[in-house]
Amino acid sequence: MQTNRAYQYARCSAVLAADPEVPGHEATYDQALSNGLAAIVAQQWPGQELSSEGHVKSARQLLKVITKQADAQPDGTYLIAWPDRHENPEKICVNTEVLCDGINETQAARHGRGSGNLQRHHIDALLALDGHPALGRMTEVHSDGQWIKAEVEDRYEQERAETYLAFIGDDEAAARAERAPGLTEPYHPKHNPDREGTELEECRVCGYTSFRLGFPADFPDTGIGACLVCSYARSSDVSYYLTLNAEIAYTLPTD
Ligand SMILES: [Zn+2]
Repeated sequence: MQTNRAYQYARCSAVLAADPEVPGHEATYDQALSNGLAAIVAQQWPGQELSSEGHVKSARQLLKVITKQADAQPDGTYLIAWPDRHENPEKICVNTEVLCDGINETQAARHGRGSGNLQRHHIDALLALDGHPALGRMTEVHSDGQWIKAEVEDRYEQERAETYLAFIGDDEAAARAERAPGLTEPYHPKHNPDREGTELEECRVCGYTSFRLGFPADFPDTGIGACLVCSYARSSDVSYYLTLNAEIAYTLPTD
């Protein structure tokens, strides 16, 4: 669980650091912060990351735990300390005020109250959490910048397809979805053996079973192809890194 949280925090934070305006940055910020704070609180004050019903607390509630348990600093941040392997004191300062403000900005956008205004200092406060030993995966995640590029590219492509989907309208989308199965070549062992298992996949943008895969894919939402309804497409580069990401997520320990 802790390893998974650390990776989720690092991956989301790396994408935001690369492009603070990336489509979906509001949800990504919340995901990064919730996982990062849960990992830190669970390690520093075990059990306090959970509510009385046993659910993991929200980012806002976890920030409250920190303001209660950690040492308030003159600059308004909260100092969390721990001993390193040689019993030397180590510390990070958590800027709870800026992080809380970041949550407010992302939630304004997610609940349709304006576009939100996530800024560099919100992301910097998020990145500062990586200094805690419960996290500390940023360097590893950053070592291959190609996947971050692919992830960002895919987000923009999804946004483009969403705009296109809104443009064609519901009726046209439904009509295209109905025609989609007839537009794929059926599998034939001799003429097109590669087509085995490459019928239509559910499209992550429009939700119709209309995403035509170029080749069989090991994980959903990773294969090369394009949607016959909304035009969302995945290039081989993007597909390669999404598959790699899915593999990593699949093999992560769930301790
Ligand atoms: Zn689609």
